[in-house]
Amino acid sequence: MNALILVILAMGYGEARTDILSQTVTYMELSSDEMIADSIFEELKDKADAQQHPWNPWVSQFFPCVKEEYENTGLYEFLLNMPKGAVLHVHPSAMGDYYALFDLVSMRDDCYFDPSNGSFELFMDSVPESDWLQVSEMLASASDEAAMRDSLIDYILIDEADEYLPDVWAEFEQMFGRVGGLFADPAVAYHYVYQALYVYALMDNVQHIELRAHTPSGENVEFYLGVVDSLADQGIDISVRIIYCDSRYLFPGETIENFRERITGSMKAAADLMAQYPGIVVGADVYSEEDKGATAFYMAPMMEEACEYSMAEYGFKLPLFLHDGESSFPTGVPDTPVSLFGPYPGNVNNNVIDAYLLGVERVGHGIELAKLPELAVMYAEEGIPLEICPISNQILGYTPDLRNHPAVPLMRNGVRISINPDDPAMFGYTGVTFDFTVAVLAWDLSLSDVKRLIMNSIEDAAMTDSEEDELMSLWQGKWDEFISYTIGSNEDVPGF
Ligand SMILES: [Zn+2]
Repeated sequence: MNALILVILAMGYGEARTDILSQTVTYMELSSDEMIADSIFEELKDKADAQQHPWNPWVSQFFPCVKEEYENTGLYEFLLNMPKGAVLHVHPSAMGDYYALFDLVSMRDDCYFDPSNGSFELFMDSVPESDWLQVSEMLASASDEAAMRDSLIDYILIDEADEYLPDVWAEFEQMFGRVGGLFADPAVAYHYVYQALYVYALMDNVQHIELRAHTPSGENVEFYLGVVDSLADQGIDISVRIIYCDSRYLFPGETIENFRERITGSMKAAADLMAQYPGIVVGADVYSEEDKGATAFYMAPMMEEACEYSMAEYGFKLPLFLHDGESSFPTGVPDTPVSLFGPYPGNVNNNVIDAYLLGVERVGHGIELAKLPELAVMYAEEGIPLEICPISNQILGYTPDLRNHPAVPLMRNGVRISINPDDPAMFGYTGVTFDFTVAVLAWDLSLSDVKRLIMNSIEDAAMTDSEEDELMSLWQGKWDEFISYTIGSNEDVPGF
């Protein structure tokens, strides 16, 4: 008789099942008030489930097609009000509200649109070529102004029509170029970032945010600090940290040698900026589509050189917060020859291995880790966190059905994860509430799971221990208020 049968005989079949489940689910202890809130939370999940077709739930549909359905649930309202701790993965140019950005600039005389490629531009000190069209004129002369507005904004959003694009990444990255010209006016950039942080702090109830900024200068850092100060003057508190980023792509016309110099130079510049703004600039990263850019293996010597530089110059090892493991490729096949040019022989992505060997602080995405269970144990044991971005992962094609997201087995096996929005502006929303909503529904998270994910985000923030303690107690106070509000006045809140 084998051991399993002996266990079942000893415990009974039902108890054996419960035992297996309880070993694979990490619950947090809840207070009695939190348990009441949890029962309200479960009812809201049931109500949201009841609105969906059982064989075609929202979480298996392309997010832009079902965004409004999520938004109209009591569960969304609950999660919107819930204090969410820290957002650890978001790109500043893609964190705000593109509808509001468009409305801010569209009536300006110098705002133009290029119909050949869908780009927008503010021509503050120059005159556009004749093929550029004035946006205010396009709106004024349209038979249906609202429809014209929507059709123009579509150029900078992933929407329903983009669901079956053969290369959604290519469209997504073009959007950064199309919208970039609108930030040419520093006043617009300021207003955009101010509004975005205002929404995260006040509407979305986020206490701390870490921005992946593209090769920022000291002036850019001052810009963000200025926005945070202005918000604080209005009584709106949100702390900000900046992660210095560059692209892992070989740019058109760039030689391999130039690429190596650029990445090494950027990583060193990140260390310089950290030394200049300690506690504000917190580390470095490389982004862009992994499977079309340089592998972490290829860039490892550049990262190591920068780490040696930072140690020699400033006495600290450059902290790395690397976008890695955002791929559908298999792992574990030797990725040779080491090449910058994809597709690689065998189309493999082993970047989470190199992230580990480089001593990464956190990994952006890291969904490939589920394919390397022994490495996942090492991530779990050493507490290396993953910044999970569920909606981004779905829209960019990695997890079309969010119920099968690799975060679930990773989280249940002890890997630390947090919930993040990545590029919400391009996905048609602001904040991180939608990401929590899809995660709760797709992964059937309990309130204790959600609380754990929020506490992870605070514990894994790029802060000193005392800053983290302060952030945790700030969040805890808001959380306790939220729980009291939920169990005391839930009948009065619309949507509950
Ligand atoms: Zn990202």
